[in-house]
Amino acid sequence: LTPLDAVFYEQRPRFDWHPGLLIDGARIQVPFLADLVTLADPTSDWTFLNYLRTHHRLYPFYFAERFHTHRAEYDAYCRWVADNLPALHFRHQVDAVRWNPERDLFEVDFTHLDADGEAEALGRTHTRNVVLGIGTEPHIPDPLRPLV
Ligand SMILES: Cc1cc2nc3c(=O)[nH]c(=O)nc-3n(C[C@H](O)[C@H](O)[C@H](O)COP(=O)(O)OP(=O)(O)OC[C@H]3O[C@@H](n4cnc5c(N)ncnc54)[C@H](O)[C@@H]3O)c2cc1C
Repeated sequence: LTPLDAVFYEQRPRFDWHPGLLIDGARIQVPFLADLVTLADPTSDWTFLNYLRTHHRLYPFYFAERFHTHRAEYDAYCRWVADNLPALHFRHQVDAVRWNPERDLFEVDFTHLDADGEAEALGRTHTRNVVLGIGTEPHIPDPLRPLV
């Protein structure tokens, strides 16, 4: 979304879609048009068709006439998008979020992790709003529990 000025911090080293569940030959249950963007904006750079074209797979995909993609290829497509979005920051572990009344902004402290998951550098971002992905098994930090 062009007017949205946001960054995303994720402690994991990279995007992985359902790790451990990409069984050989298994396909997703919906056709490729239900990719990350096509139904909202088929002219986006991040369509599954553009992924295929970039990876020289467009003609093989078309002639095979199997429009329910392999789960492994869908995972690779999502990673290709994630790797190319500059606002996504993997290997960034958020350590603290606090309100700074002087600046009227939130401060977000994070640790940049190296390839082994060890701390490499510390950083801080200031932001007007914070959105928290609480997880499939919800984890709500203690200071936020009264708000739920
Ligand atoms: C097998 C499976 C199939 C599913 N299929 C569907 C489907 O078809 N459709 C659907 O709508 N939903 C589906 N879901 C559910 C969907 O994946 C979840 O509802 C969704 O991912 C929850 O999003 P979230 O951002 O809250 O949590 P998550 O996706 O779990 O993201 C939270 C992230 O926060 C990161 N994190 C935690 N602590 C920190 C920290 N301190 N610093 C930085 N990062 C941190 C974690 O590493 C994690 O990646 C499926 C789930 C599973 C397991």
